[in-house]
Amino acid sequence: MENNETVSKNFIEREIDKDLKEGVYETVHTRFPPEPNGYLHIGHAKSIILNSGLAKEYGGKFNLRFDDTNPTKEKSEFVESIKEDVAWLGAEWEDRLFFASDYFDKMYDYAVFLIKKGKAYVSDLSADEIREYRGTLTEPGKDDPFRERSMEENLRMFIDMKEGKYEDGSHVLRAKIDMKSSNINMRDPIIYRIAHLTHQNTGDKWCIYPMYDFAHPLEDAIEGITHSICTLEFEDHRPLYDWVVKECEIEMPPRQIEFAKLYLNNVVTGKRYIKKLVEDGTVDGWDDPRLVSIAGLRRRGYTPESIRRFVELCGVSKSQSTAEMDMLEYCIREDLKPKVKRLMAVIHPLKLIIDNYPEGQTEELDAVNNPENEELGSRKVTFSRELWIEEEDFMEEPPKKYFRLFPGNEVRLMNAYFVKCVGFDKDDSGKITAVHCTYDPLTKQGPDFKSDRKVKGTIHWVNAQDAAKVRVRLYENIVDEEKGVYDEEGNVNLNPASLTECDSYVEKELKEAKAFDSFQFVRNGFFCTDYKDSKPGEPVFNRIVSLKSSFKL
Ligand code: ATP
Ligand code: MG
Repeated sequence: MENNETVSKNFIEREIDKDLKEGVYETVHTRFPPEPNGYLHIGHAKSIILNSGLAKEYGGKFNLRFDDTNPTKEKSEFVESIKEDVAWLGAEWEDRLFFASDYFDKMYDYAVFLIKKGKAYVSDLSADEIREYRGTLTEPGKDDPFRERSMEENLRMFIDMKEGKYEDGSHVLRAKIDMKSSNINMRDPIIYRIAHLTHQNTGDKWCIYPMYDFAHPLEDAIEGITHSICTLEFEDHRPLYDWVVKECEIEMPPRQIEFAKLYLNNVVTGKRYIKKLVEDGTVDGWDDPRLVSIAGLRRRGYTPESIRRFVELCGVSKSQSTAEMDMLEYCIREDLKPKVKRLMAVIHPLKLIIDNYPEGQTEELDAVNNPENEELGSRKVTFSRELWIEEEDFMEEPPKKYFRLFPGNEVRLMNAYFVKCVGFDKDDSGKITAVHCTYDPLTKQGPDFKSDRKVKGTIHWVNAQDAAKVRVRLYENIVDEEKGVYDEEGNVNLNPASLTECDSYVEKELKEAKAFDSFQFVRNGFFCTDYKDSKPGEPVFNRIVSLKSSFKL
């Protein structure tokens, strides 16, 4: 890439460079470790792109690992959707797909190893008692009364825990670290709990499960991960991460590095909240186009390239910040602008009748598919006496600076002729039902165009004779931005106008649009063919973004 050398590296790349230079590691091996308890969202995309990107950049490896150590919340539906989303984003795990639950035997052995070293003990305290003994940020903790149990007894009791001889919550295995540590995570954290639950992968084999802070470093170590990149909330857990790999005597211990999460301003991110909208039926599933789940963005018409570009623009840092939706929208516009055809579609139709155009006559006019990309070629559009135009392109009494149709005004019909408004029809309720024009045959767009008149407005149209009637969906933020994302109870403040469905007319070739095909509809924005609700010959178009942008790079 041009200018590659001058692009400054982010802080994680600088740390990796240092590790490689000092010989701490010889390669780079990263992972993305989702918990399969929901669909991925734009925040996860950042982590996926970062981790897989680093592996690629340094010629290393990237693992996809399901962190399925918690048997209550996980589902195989989520495993499948996560695999699909990670692959779609372009992250390649090749044959390195792993499940943390495959390591339960090894983790158990490590726990036994710690017990034998005198670094872990079984406690009979209840969860409440453990919390009491833990102390607070300002007060040190108190030693667990079972802290000095003999190694033999700990071992026997841990085996009994595993054999199912105790009830849930009656015993735990704790790491023996330091109840007086200023870091609460280091005050003899629980590393195994009893839970008589069926696990989707290991079934009823286990009734004890490792805690995240114990399991995660071991998962990394077992896979030979070098740089375990996670988000900032784990910064305080790093000493425990390091303790686990040290006391388990891992030969090549992985290193944890934290970065700031990606948040979008005024947008529902966070699996928990998205899940709630899905479960209470507010949205049409995890891939509702109003969501920033990866599946929702894909259905809306976002491309992997646009999401990668967005993540790149956000950068990687240690300080918390939020990004704007405008920037994500900018990225998809820039990506699609040169790639897709620009066609005419009338979202809110109003009939236009050209009084001096012969009835029954049809002609074909030339239209360029994308003036920025010659490779997309050109097409013929049909023209006849009756057309559809946008409702908003006619006004009976226009304000100043309105250059579209109004009585007496002349405009250009895109790819066609100049037309002059000579009248309009109204129904009993006062609604305008048709606009009447005359056209000037000399003003046909193309080499024979002749006119000494200038017009200020150009409007688009489709031929009423052969246009396809389709369903078009327009979106607004699902959040009521005036009120903010969440109310006091943590529910999303919904914008009642987040979805508008329209009966629209589009150029006839759009009838054959296939799922995920995207287009620019001139003046109206970028649209993508809905994969769920379209039927052969009856496409449904979702607006990805309008053309207006407030974001500038
Ligand atoms: P959520 O916060 O939405 O509930 P999570 O953190 O529970 O997500 P996990 O499946 O545990 O989801 O996360 C997998 C990986 O994705 C973790 O390494 C986590 O740090 C990272 N991740 C999650 N949310 C974000 C985000 N907003 N920005 C960047 N990385 C994220
Ligand atoms: Mg999590």
